[in-house]
Amino acid sequence: MLDRATLLQRLAEPRTWDLAVIGGGATGLGVALDAAARGFAVVLVESHDFAKGTSSRATKLAHGGVRYLAQGDIGLVREALRERSAMLANAPHVAQRLPFVMPGYRWWERAYYGSGLKAYDALAGRRGLGATEWLSTREVCQLLPGVQTQGLAGGVRYWDGQFDDARFALLLARTAAARGALVLNHVEARDLVRERGQVRGLVVRDAETGAEHRIAANCVVNATGVWVDAVRAMDREAGAPARPPIVAPSQGVHLVVERRFMPGSHALLVPKTADGRVLFAVPWLGKLVLGTTDTPRGDLAREPSPFADEVAFILGEAARYLAAAPRREDVRSVWVGLRPLVKHAREEGPAGEDGRSSFSTKALSREHTVIVGRSGLVTVTGGKWTTYRSMAEDVLDRCMTRGLLPRRPGGVTERLPLVGSAPGRPLAEPPGLHLYGSEAAAVQALPGADRWLWRDGAGGLTEAMVRFAVRHEMARDVEDVLARRSRLLFLDAAEAARIADDVAAIIGEELGRAADTAGFKALAAQYTRLP
Ligand SMILES: Cc1cc2nc3c(=O)[nH]c(=O)nc-3n(C[C@H](O)[C@H](O)[C@H](O)COP(=O)(O)OP(=O)(O)OC[C@H]3O[C@@H](n4cnc5c(N)ncnc54)[C@H](O)[C@@H]3O)c2cc1C
Repeated sequence: MLDRATLLQRLAEPRTWDLAVIGGGATGLGVALDAAARGFAVVLVESHDFAKGTSSRATKLAHGGVRYLAQGDIGLVREALRERSAMLANAPHVAQRLPFVMPGYRWWERAYYGSGLKAYDALAGRRGLGATEWLSTREVCQLLPGVQTQGLAGGVRYWDGQFDDARFALLLARTAAARGALVLNHVEARDLVRERGQVRGLVVRDAETGAEHRIAANCVVNATGVWVDAVRAMDREAGAPARPPIVAPSQGVHLVVERRFMPGSHALLVPKTADGRVLFAVPWLGKLVLGTTDTPRGDLAREPSPFADEVAFILGEAARYLAAAPRREDVRSVWVGLRPLVKHAREEGPAGEDGRSSFSTKALSREHTVIVGRSGLVTVTGGKWTTYRSMAEDVLDRCMTRGLLPRRPGGVTERLPLVGSAPGRPLAEPPGLHLYGSEAAAVQALPGADRWLWRDGAGGLTEAMVRFAVRHEMARDVEDVLARRSRLLFLDAAEAARIADDVAAIIGEELGRAADTAGFKALAAQYTRLP
């Protein structure tokens, strides 16, 4: 069903789709799945690979947002807690609960943060993942081996969710496809088709062959994350003035080190860093993820690099909270994501937009923005991974209100198991067959199930997993496999570079053409380089 030639054939068929989505991150895929589940005819194009943008670079927390709680944004926390619950229920093989410990070093911290987290429990209600508990100093040391014990004065344990972001995105794509949507990676939207001032479709280009296609659609959704302004720029009459951008990107850096720096099964939350934000140390797929930062950025690099002060900041904070502090040479991978923060929304005013209600300020999800232009182009950006599903409902609601789609009831994805949905193992463990859920047997049935290309404990990456990525998960090149089907690039970039040739050879056999490794090795070098 996901054979590329067949998908491209469907793309070339003359027809009018109900909905065309640009962007295959959490937001676009969420919209495509929701629309397909409501029975709409949906096509989605992603210029690179699913989750190549911000959606593979999150801290991997399915969470209500302790930070928003501290800011008093109760509605947003409640909404995210509901969505956290849906994520864990619909894809338990790639989304699970995770215990967090917040260590206290000042006398008031334990009581202060503990009360806040009790409120977090109360907001979650029956969707809570475990009760918040006050911990003694001894308990904190037991649960967080490796924590800085000097000055420690107890702590608090609470529960949240954790997931594999890129694999989750892939499951959204495949589940949408199973519901009839045409989802294509490595196909870029190059232009909008406009008729009498209304957006009526897209011009897209297959990145592999260069072939262009024209797609007709009644409704077009621009879900391109930090890149939404480039698509909005396509939506204007010849000679019309350019619109001011709405996105101000802010970058977040993560550093990955070995689990030995904090070997327990709990994550650590620093509630207030030296610059007043939160910082996490999270066990994930056999490693420890440290992050993140929040640094405004002027450009929209596809592979942004960290700034020296961001790396110094994360290592400095880790040194305050971990007894054996990781050093620069301990970093196995560094990855950087861009947050699509929305600016100028108000200044833009009704000009060029739907004068009635240009902006969705839905009380419960103030973090994301939906704009319906006068031309009917629907732009959605902001929000967070955890709320992708409710964002999708909001987008479809706006499309229907605007008459771009016929009205059909929502709520269809809240309990909609994703492909492979089956009880999973803790995501703190090294990656392995458990991430495939009910599809694990299908992976094992492929050639090379016993040939390990990379090993970590009982897990790792086998030849069969690479074959599965190409045959069933739409992987087209080495990066698709090692960055987003397997997460090895994000876990240990040097190891990813080491096995790149083996992976390329298997992809070559599957696709009947050579797969490039030079580009991937250069990328892996970037993921090991600290400024
Ligand atoms: C550092 C960091 C940590 C985060 N941690 C968390 C977390 O722990 N939990 C959480 O809930 N949220 C987290 N978030 C937020 C979350 O990651 C984002 O809100 C979410 O991934 C945004 O998804 P998106 O689909 O809108 O954007 P993207 O994932 O960037 O998707 C947009 C896609 O559009 C594609 N595209 C662009 N132009 C075109 C075109 N012309 N044609 C076709 N395709 C195109 C891009 O290639 C890209 O894949 C974090 C964000 C950052 C930056």
